[in-house]
Amino acid sequence: MEATQHSSPDLSAFEGIDFSQAERHQLVIIGSGPAGYTAALYAARANLNPVVYTGLEPGGQLTTTTDVENYPGYPDGVMGPEMMEDFKKQAARFGADLRFGIVTAVDLSERPFRLIIDEEVPLLAEAVIIATGASAKYLGLENEKRLLGRGVSACATCDGAFFRGVEIAIVGGGDTAMEEALFLTRFATKVYIIHRRDALRASKIMQQRVFNNEKIEIIWDTVVTDVLGENGVEGLRLKNKVTGEASDLPVAGFFVAIGHKPNTDLFKGWLDMDEQGYIQARPGTTYTNIPGVFASGDAQDHVYRQAVTAAGTGCMAAIDAERWLAEQEAEVAAAVDGAGG
Ligand code: NAP
Repeated sequence: MEATQHSSPDLSAFEGIDFSQAERHQLVIIGSGPAGYTAALYAARANLNPVVYTGLEPGGQLTTTTDVENYPGYPDGVMGPEMMEDFKKQAARFGADLRFGIVTAVDLSERPFRLIIDEEVPLLAEAVIIATGASAKYLGLENEKRLLGRGVSACATCDGAFFRGVEIAIVGGGDTAMEEALFLTRFATKVYIIHRRDALRASKIMQQRVFNNEKIEIIWDTVVTDVLGENGVEGLRLKNKVTGEASDLPVAGFFVAIGHKPNTDLFKGWLDMDEQGYIQARPGTTYTNIPGVFASGDAQDHVYRQAVTAAGTGCMAAIDAERWLAEQEAEVAAAVDGAGG
């Protein structure tokens, strides 16, 4: 895929921030999903003293999911939040410095890289691992935004229990929509899945579970054109794409499960990305176009996007960073030796 053009990086956040007394670290890991914590585990065990900034959602997307049945090593499945707690404990056990905070600006023009935490704290890093993941996408309707948190949600695990005994709808045809629809049947009396095509994108096993669940009804070839309700969701306006027919569906809740967007805005102008904003790592590695900056997890993966693949690339990033840092030290040592001889 073609890389997007680089716009100039925005350095305005650095004005007035004094880096002369800033903490300086060998390795800073940005993000705390399976990629970030695995990178932290490996880097800590390699004595790189990694500092991890967790971001707004410590543990990442898995903290908003329910049962994880496809992570190897858990034969009976595990709850997403519990699994991320285990990841965190394992990284902390080897000394990773886990900090709640958000990296709000980066200057990757030279080493050490300059980072700003929470818009005010300066920090220097010899190497950086990006593990910022991805976030839920929305349809982009005005009333969807207005009613967010008042009946509109992108997280069934977080909000499902608010919808006991009522009918609700979810939009999307992928595994997330299926998983969330199934979860929502624990609370709702009926769950409509609204999908824009006549075939689901979800895996066969998830499709089968949905087809077998009598509380779920799929509305095919249909898009949501508006979310209805004053102070809370009262219904959806739908449009059938084949017949063009419009209709209203009365529901008390609306869940959006139409995929994710990589959290890479911070790196725009610095790193090569594809049109969707996924960072382009050198194939088979986690190296980005900037030496010393490594990309892992969903921020660079639009294909697999699984917890296990994110963890795998987190491990790769830590090993790549460790070897790269060792090479830099060897170069410095050789230069010093050369100067002396
Ligand atoms: P996804 O696979 O990209 O599916 C997104 C769905 O939303 C698609 O059905 C798509 O329709 C629909 N969609 C996208 N934009 C839309 C719009 N503007 N309006 C209406 N519908 C729209 O995303 P996902 O379900 O979040 O899954 C992401 C990845 O995680 C996948 O690889 C999935 O297998 C994996 N995952 C796995 C599990 C599991 O195994 N238990 C659970 C969750 C996620 P089209 O089909 O028409 O494109």
